[in-house]
Amino acid sequence: MSKEQPTGGASTFDVLMDAAVDAIILIDDRGAILRFNRAAQKIFGYPADFVRGKNVSMLMPEPDRSKHNAYLERYLKSGNAEIIGREREVSGVRSTGLVFPMRLSVGEVGREHGGKQFVGILRDLSEQKAIEEQVHQLEEQLVHADRLVILGELTAGIAHEINQPLTAIAAYADAGRHLVERSVDASPEDIHGICERIGEQSRRAAEVVQRLRKLVRTGTVSKASHDLNKIIRNTLLLFEYELNKSGIDLVFMAGEGLRNLYVDEIQIQQILVNLVKNSLDAINAVGQSDGRIEIQVKIVGKEVAVAVQDNGPGVPAILRPQLFDSFFTTKPKGVGLGLSICKNIAAAHGGSLGYTSPAEGGSCFTLRLPLEHIG
Ligand code: ADP
Repeated sequence: MSKEQPTGGASTFDVLMDAAVDAIILIDDRGAILRFNRAAQKIFGYPADFVRGKNVSMLMPEPDRSKHNAYLERYLKSGNAEIIGREREVSGVRSTGLVFPMRLSVGEVGREHGGKQFVGILRDLSEQKAIEEQVHQLEEQLVHADRLVILGELTAGIAHEINQPLTAIAAYADAGRHLVERSVDASPEDIHGICERIGEQSRRAAEVVQRLRKLVRTGTVSKASHDLNKIIRNTLLLFEYELNKSGIDLVFMAGEGLRNLYVDEIQIQQILVNLVKNSLDAINAVGQSDGRIEIQVKIVGKEVAVAVQDNGPGVPAILRPQLFDSFFTTKPKGVGLGLSICKNIAAAHGGSLGYTSPAEGGSCFTLRLPLEHIG
């Protein structure tokens, strides 16, 4: 049987090259293209005849293009090349000038005579990257949609939170008017005090609106250094009205000795809102009169744990494996996305979200965030 040389133009070799889905490019020790299979022609948009003999760097964008020859020379002298035998992601450039991502592996072709040759096998990753980007965008839209759904459900509480300072402002304004009209000896200090309180309450209302605007915000995750206890306290304000209405007790035990964490404030709020809302729903669904929700922040080893525990009906053992699945819901009007979104948010922060069933009954969801993220 005759031995086939890669550059010999043997037909079996050509057939094999052209059958490959990946681009296969063979170059000599000066970088000149010797072979350019059918997939390579399709991916780069050049016919084989056009590229043959030209330097392979024409297929790379800058700065790789200018560096390639020196890199090849260095390898031929030293024999050290990080790229040989490994797969890595690089950029290619098509005949149209479009730069695209590709996965490349390079091998050295051993030859008995003549100089060395190298074979590059590469796969166009543009489609895969575009799909990944699309999935990422859809995930972000879903997270945002979940926030809007929850905000919709909390409308009464939000209206109450804004209404409180507005009512106070109206009362102070009335008192001020009364003082000016009726009281002959109203001092400038009295008027000053009333104006100050009106200002305070206006700022309080403006803060609520500000917080809500952040919650409806779309866009990418923006992590910054935040006080976790403060994030939780602010979030719980949204529930004041619903808690009063339903007679459910909420106890918050802030974490001690906790320094700032590097998190996306809105997304952490979103987890809290989802968990507290679920506890309220669970307690309300069974019409319990002694409903209680406890939120405790604790440092546990290298993590900070936020446990949201309620004394509601709990999750039946048979349903627990599906708890974090998308679209798992037992509520008549539920969507079943809350917990799966929260779990993803926790993971995106390098943490986790888990469920345990307390011995005394009810549910306990624990969000864990790594302390390494402290800013
Ligand atoms: P949804 O609230 O739309 O149902 P979730 O993903 O937030 O979606 O919750 C999924 C399901 O998990 C709920 O329908 C409920 O059956 C269960 N669940 C979540 N939290 C609790 C809780 N605190 N107590 C009891 N069951 C809960």
